Amino acid sequence: MAKRKLSQNQTRRIRSKQQAKNEKAIATPETDIESEDDTLGAEQEGRVVAHYGTQVDIEFGDQKTIRCFLRANLAPVITGDRIVWRQGKDKGVVESCQPRKSLLSRPDSYGKLKPVAANVDQIIITVAPQPEFFTNLIDRYLVVAEINNIKPLILINKADLINETNQSEFDNLQKSYSTLGYRVLTVSAKDSTSLDELKDLLKGNTSILVGQSGVGKSSILQTLIPDKEIEIGELSNAKSKGRHTTTHSQLFHFSDGGECIDSPGIREFGLWNLNAADVIAGFVELHDLTSTCKFRDCSHENEPKCALKEALENGTISEQRFTNYKRIIASLDDVQIQSSQ
Ligand code: GDP
Ligand code: ZN
Repeated sequence: MAKRKLSQNQTRRIRSKQQAKNEKAIATPETDIESEDDTLGAEQEGRVVAHYGTQVDIEFGDQKTIRCFLRANLAPVITGDRIVWRQGKDKGVVESCQPRKSLLSRPDSYGKLKPVAANVDQIIITVAPQPEFFTNLIDRYLVVAEINNIKPLILINKADLINETNQSEFDNLQKSYSTLGYRVLTVSAKDSTSLDELKDLLKGNTSILVGQSGVGKSSILQTLIPDKEIEIGELSNAKSKGRHTTTHSQLFHFSDGGECIDSPGIREFGLWNLNAADVIAGFVELHDLTSTCKFRDCSHENEPKCALKEALENGTISEQRFTNYKRIIASLDDVQIQSSQ
């Protein structure tokens, strides 16, 4: 009897030893990296150029890249982040993340706000004669740019499709946004010489291209980065409905200087995480006037001595912009977003 009991205990011990061995064998690479601490190289600066969940690609030096693990205690890093990393045996390990100049987020399919790009300094708002453009959408992107302190640039693509019928529409677009102080360029992805001024404005910046599907964002990126395979519109749209879209952000270098962060999620990010104060702050010419409304909490609806209403009557602000402002404010009530931070 006693002998049998002993042997059961032994069996149990052997089993548990075996189990421990197996667990060690399938230890995560992160664990390996932690145990490699003594052999890790010196700290170096780098930038996240692609994100794969538990691992990232880091660019360092003269556009060299290395796959890195993330320290378990590190706050989430995002494509575009500037980080400090150390070389391991095969891969590296990201040690820390530097403060961000900007952070753009969008909600995932559960309505949870997810960061998609860090340190973006230029938002290129792309429109075209086809598909039909809406100034409301331009204004939405301008708000995002303004409140994140990111330079906006309005890009009219498909210049070859501007003709006698739609010429005045694009002249008006150019005029109204230039008057507000925004840079407006007219280009064609199919004519690389038309992109010269854009190429200059890309240098020294991390940009993102946004705008409706079909305006030619992928085509422009392809012309500016000829040796890079870029996903076409259809595919991007299909992917953006999946829940892992935010992991696909990638940072590219333009051939003539500057970088671009791109992903389906970025192309379609919007205004979800804003409140009314953010929106008015994003309409620069309206915001300048609000301090002269009679009531500090003026909703610019029906209050007396509303500076916006007066400016509208005098024609000093554009009716289109005021209407778009109202529409955006109204649309904020429709969306409820949980912040992940
Ligand atoms: P995205 O959805 O914004 O990325 O747009 P795509 O780059 O996929 O382009 C949508 C369609 O517009 C494609 O059929 C392109 O060939 C076409 N396209 C892009 N740029 C131009 C342009 O400058 N002129 C013309 N005529 N078509 C263009
Ligand atoms: Zn007012």
